Amino acid sequence: MSSIDAMPRRERLDPTRILTLAEQLPGLIFQLHRRHDGHLHFPYLTGSGTRVLGMDPEALAEDARPALERVHEADYPGVMTAIERSERWCIPLIAKFRFMLGDAACRWIAVRAQPQRLDSGVLWHGMMLDISEQVAEEERLRRLSDSDALTGLANRRKLLKRLDEEISLSNRHATPLSLLMLDLDHFKRINDTWGHLEGDEVLKRLADCCRSLLREEDLLARLGGEEFALVLPLTSGANARQLAERLRRAIAEHDFGSLRPGQVTASIGIAEHRVGESRDQLLARADAGLYQAKDRGRNRVVASGR
Ligand code: GH3
Ligand code: MG
Ligand code: MG
Repeated sequence: MSSIDAMPRRERLDPTRILTLAEQLPGLIFQLHRRHDGHLHFPYLTGSGTRVLGMDPEALAEDARPALERVHEADYPGVMTAIERSERWCIPLIAKFRFMLGDAACRWIAVRAQPQRLDSGVLWHGMMLDISEQVAEEERLRRLSDSDALTGLANRRKLLKRLDEEISLSNRHATPLSLLMLDLDHFKRINDTWGHLEGDEVLKRLADCCRSLLREEDLLARLGGEEFALVLPLTSGANARQLAERLRRAIAEHDFGSLRPGQVTASIGIAEHRVGESRDQLLARADAGLYQAKDRGRNRVVASGR
């Protein structure tokens, strides 16, 4: 027999027990009322979440603004749109937002509520749950799925996604966009001479060396092995060539630990996006530049003409 069945029926329905339960609930339960003139207030608001979030149910019973003002500014329009839509179509209110605790600290909150039309306006009955841990875990998994474990750079998946976005922007606004393909020269030799672990160290140091020369909006990715790609938004082929030369020189002069400067070099291919060109065509042209750079003796930059 479960413990609830063991309780006398009268005790189960005791209103004071229900109130105690409501006050102790993780998160909070509420009624939110919107008057016809748009004024919002929480006639009912309880649960341990009110204390964690520092909400004053008595003040909020009159006016919801002190709580709404603490919704992160980037999430506020979404919350208000969800309220409008829920009211207009009489559909459940579903939203997710950051609730500010101080200047920097915040908690992620999920809200679910059912609207009810009244003569006085709309009354929602719902609950809010703190989902900060879940959001942090989602973010960690997203970062993992987008990044390369060895170097911490973006991986191929992330690169292709970003390239699609940048190509679409470039097509729409006719803005320049360039792509670089970079491959280390005779890397097999480095592995064979110094061992695979030292080879891995070179790849990590290479990532740091390149990162230091790039802008925030550039995206450097490790495609696999010792092959890298670099997306350069708002960058013409001529500017990309200058940057590629700087990268090539920085790599050739970089201190890679046990290896002497000059033992690690890279070949680089460049392609500037042409309006209407597909992602695969752009990648193939940058690749063609890279293979010409290898052909012509390595440690050089070649811009794809075709
Ligand atoms: P090329 O100048 O023509 O590019 O010569 P290469 O030796 O760099 O090219 P190749 O593609 O023949 O060899 C790439 C080598 O990269 C093969 C492998 O030993 C090494 N490699 C690939 N992935 C990794 C990795 O994750 N770590 C290490 N240490 N080496 C790797
Ligand atoms: Mg190579
Ligand atoms: Mg290679």
